[in-house]
Amino acid sequence: MTTIILQIMRNGLYSNVDSSLSRISSKTDDYVEMIMGRSSLVNQDSEVSKSNNSNPKLSEQIVANTDIILFSDDRKILNADNIFFASWESLKLNKKYLSKIYEISLTNIFGHEEKYHIVTVKVKNSSYPDVKYMSVIINVDQLATANERYERIIIVVMATFWLISIGASVYLANWTRKPIIESYEKQKAFVENASHELRTPLAVMQLQIDLYNSSKHPDNDTSAQQTISMITEQTERLGKMVRTLLDMSELQTIARDEEIAISALVEEVLADLEPLAQEKGINLIEKCDNVLLMGSDILIYRLVYNLVENAIKYNFSDGTVTVTATQQNSQLHLTVEDTGNGIPEELKERIFEPFFRLDKSRSRELGGVGLGLALVREIVRVHNGSILVKNNANSGTTFEVIFP
Ligand code: ADP
Repeated sequence: MTTIILQIMRNGLYSNVDSSLSRISSKTDDYVEMIMGRSSLVNQDSEVSKSNNSNPKLSEQIVANTDIILFSDDRKILNADNIFFASWESLKLNKKYLSKIYEISLTNIFGHEEKYHIVTVKVKNSSYPDVKYMSVIINVDQLATANERYERIIIVVMATFWLISIGASVYLANWTRKPIIESYEKQKAFVENASHELRTPLAVMQLQIDLYNSSKHPDNDTSAQQTISMITEQTERLGKMVRTLLDMSELQTIARDEEIAISALVEEVLADLEPLAQEKGINLIEKCDNVLLMGSDILIYRLVYNLVENAIKYNFSDGTVTVTATQQNSQLHLTVEDTGNGIPEELKERIFEPFFRLDKSRSRELGGVGLGLALVREIVRVHNGSILVKNNANSGTTFEVIFP
């Protein structure tokens, strides 16, 4: 925008000068005759020249600071005696840009550089056959200085306005974001409080159920037994859900400055999940390089645990789960690959949404609450990483986590 304004201003400033150059260069013969006539009179009598040679119509078209220089074929200046501008001796005939207006810098007799706009045209005049080229030159030094000053003022004014508008937009953005942040904070605080409040009655219920289950109840009939086992299962589910919600709301506050040996952590997760894997006949494989990660040990354990647990749960019996960790450039790539039946392309993003499940009843059957991957995504986010879901060659799923 500023560049456009400056360009328009520059063109406007020089338009008078450039149109005068065009006008003069289009009437070559008139000006050659006027100048050569004056030159010959000067040689005869300088006083006469002043009164007799001026052509008022032609002179009108010439703006101040204009000079016309006539050249012979061998680049000699033919009207040296009536050139007014001081730097004419340093002016060289340039045949490259014939009929084009351009800017040049010449050093004047005081050693200062001055700017000029110049146009050179070919001449074919029968009265003065020696004249082969005509250069029209106008001193634009004052215009250039004024232009520089205006440009500086415009840039300062524009920069000031930019800074003001950036400041105003940052202020407005913060101001409009405030209610959103406030409502997000309120929502977070609600989840945190609700999870805390639910934890205590749940713990009491679970304890009572455990106590009840540990003692014998000969009077219980089948239907009572079924009710008790259903209550036990649902209380466990509720407990798991509340714990995950609480973990999610507390994620930000957990320190992430531990140096974690990924291979050891993966081995620990696989050992903890071995009973579940055996139950399903799944083979767990660890292929981790000796890599280190800066983060929270507890959270990364949770991340790997949830991914491997899913890879076991949503796998076929006799399948395999492979965990790899490699350093690629400066990034750590952690993958969990299974041989299950995969995830449809269009749902690969949605599985990270809280409570989203591909098959609700199967997930419930397997003890899932639909929060495992939502927690995984949050853990990845607080470690500034990214997570991808891909199909693999075994028609299963590969989760790839990349840490910077
Ligand atoms: P859940 O507690 O139901 O396992 P998650 O958030 O861990 O919840 O996973 C969400 C859903 O994503 C699951 O219900 C399941 O349908 C799907 N899913 C997760 N991991 C896999 C996997 N490795 N293979 C196939 N489907 C998966």
